[in-house]
Amino acid sequence: MADDSIAVVDLDRCQPDRCNYECANFCPPNRSGKECIVTREERFGDEPYEGGPDQIHISEDICLGESCGICVNKCPFDAIEIINLPQELDDDPVHRYGENAFALYGLPAPQEGQVTGILGPNGIGKTTAVRILADEMAPNLGQVAGDPPGWEAIMDEYRGTELQNYLEELRAGDVTVARKPQYVDQIPDQFDGTTRELLERTDERGALSDLIERVGIGPVVDQDIDTLSGGELQRVALVACLARDADFYFLDELTPYLDIGQRMTAARLVRELADEEDRSMLVVEHDLAILDLLADTIHVAYGSSGAFGVITSPKSTKNGINEYLGGFLENENMRIRQESITFEEHAPRQTAEGDVVVEYPDLTKSYGDGEFSLEVEGGEIQENEVLGVVGPNGIGKSTFAQLLAGRLEPDEGEVDADLDIAYKPQYVEIDQPMRVDAFLASITDDFGTSYWNTEIADPLQLDRVMEQNLTDLSGGERQRVAIAACLSEDADLYLLDEPSAHLDVEQRVRATSAIRRYAENHDATALVIDHDIYMVDLLADRLLVFDGEPAERGHASPPVGMRDGMNEFLANLDITFRRDERTGRPRINKPGSQLDREQKNAGEYYYS
Ligand code: ADP
Ligand code: ADP
Ligand code: SF4
Repeated sequence: MADDSIAVVDLDRCQPDRCNYECANFCPPNRSGKECIVTREERFGDEPYEGGPDQIHISEDICLGESCGICVNKCPFDAIEIINLPQELDDDPVHRYGENAFALYGLPAPQEGQVTGILGPNGIGKTTAVRILADEMAPNLGQVAGDPPGWEAIMDEYRGTELQNYLEELRAGDVTVARKPQYVDQIPDQFDGTTRELLERTDERGALSDLIERVGIGPVVDQDIDTLSGGELQRVALVACLARDADFYFLDELTPYLDIGQRMTAARLVRELADEEDRSMLVVEHDLAILDLLADTIHVAYGSSGAFGVITSPKSTKNGINEYLGGFLENENMRIRQESITFEEHAPRQTAEGDVVVEYPDLTKSYGDGEFSLEVEGGEIQENEVLGVVGPNGIGKSTFAQLLAGRLEPDEGEVDADLDIAYKPQYVEIDQPMRVDAFLASITDDFGTSYWNTEIADPLQLDRVMEQNLTDLSGGERQRVAIAACLSEDADLYLLDEPSAHLDVEQRVRATSAIRRYAENHDATALVIDHDIYMVDLLADRLLVFDGEPAERGHASPPVGMRDGMNEFLANLDITFRRDERTGRPRINKPGSQLDREQKNAGEYYYS
């Protein structure tokens, strides 16, 4: 085949006993007598191999490449990918997991005293790269058969690059690594005991009590880990990583379940370890405002999830994010997306007023003996609009949602509770042992219609998860299924709490437009609580702003336009945004900088 293509077979999907080798029966080289698609037993004989003897192997030497692609279409289980690699990629991969398996090209280069970011989709090889940098896995430079190539060959490959120093230290056995996992929800399955017991084991720098105080988890340190919320677990995991004494820290997503104030604190702690202690920090982050603030340089990762991934050379953070959003990588001369992602520099015009879906009076609600009390100023929510809901965690946003849904009774005031509300909670727990397709079909009769596919399944990229069990989904997959389940209900008001959690940037943008389009086409209203400011900007027509003292008292203003809403919300946080001069992308100002002071004086925090 064209030597710039790869064939990838997903062994979790390939089920020859159910398809009778449709792929091999139709493969043109096979039909002319060549052995392009064979069984793994035929390919490997007595050599060790992954997968079952009956599963298929595709010869990349014989295969005609992506322009043929017949097997890809014939396979009923979507198990095969044939992909032309970008021509610019003339080197061998850094690592390939095996024949017909995922290939990684390029590695990020951690630097002492610097925060290095990685920006890219899930499933693109970020963890693979870190396992190599952490010396948990020797890269095979694509040589999947025989002995691995060894350090000399690896050093030859990277001499004169940004990575040389790092690899030399790694080879000398001098590098220690601390890591924060991506899915903090799984921590309670892996650890039994209190937060303090978990954290004390990590206190290698004597910084533990300071870190606990700064992230605000003091009140929960004596609780059992399995009683913590997602936002608390996220901060515990951050502290557990940063408390270690390592040369190289890898943080796979800092922000899920954290509010903006907590995100800023997390970013500050990571920066301090680089600036004050000269450590190397490598961060994967999908909240672009935070990544922008945090990283000195970034590597963009692109490719095809599960098939191959390319990690670019480092770029300045500003250019890297701009190029990523624009969909074109300049040094690499590579288009990674057809459309660019753009932001409005000025507040969106007030949309024509629609019919009112719900009008609510002033409301109050408190819990227990007034441990927490919420005051809501009356307002109205319109048809066809997406109302962004912003404010810190623990301020009463979910409580307000429950009041609207008629699931909670207010202490004062009354909600006309004749509304059907569909609700996606912040922490998505789906633990029914059921397939995704059966689950979604149980929610709507529209399941599988072309209309439902266009509106919901396609933008949320559900095709590859339909046959999986709900319990086997990754965090990002579970999030997309939960958004789909919410939008598939027949309701007047769709309430989505943090739909961005665990989605990569492109999935966030797709999910955002699916939610927007859905509200518009259904004369429905969506209330979306989110802490990713870019997502709120792309998503919302108006804003509902909460403020107060978390866990003590909350206050909600009536819904207002984007400019007023952003000003009110960001003034509470004391953060201003400027615009990138080339792309109009919002960027957080340095506190106390001239622009920060000017904008605060003018009262323009966002659309300045
Ligand atoms: P990311 O961290 O970007 O989500 P990973 O590095 O975890 O990506 O994985 C990239 C791809 O490599 C995955 O899609 C998976 O299919 C494949 N992969 C990971 N580990 C193995 C392994 N041990 N054997 C074969 N394939 C693997
Ligand atoms: P948000 O959605 O803004 O994070 P919530 O509405 O979930 O905030 O919670 C606001 C406060 O009320 C929190 O301090 C929370 O612990 C408390 N709270 C929420 N539900 C209950 C309840 N059923 N009983 C007692 N306190 C509660
Ligand atoms: Fe055969 Fe390759 Fe065509 Fe698939 S893409 S049918 S393996 S030639």
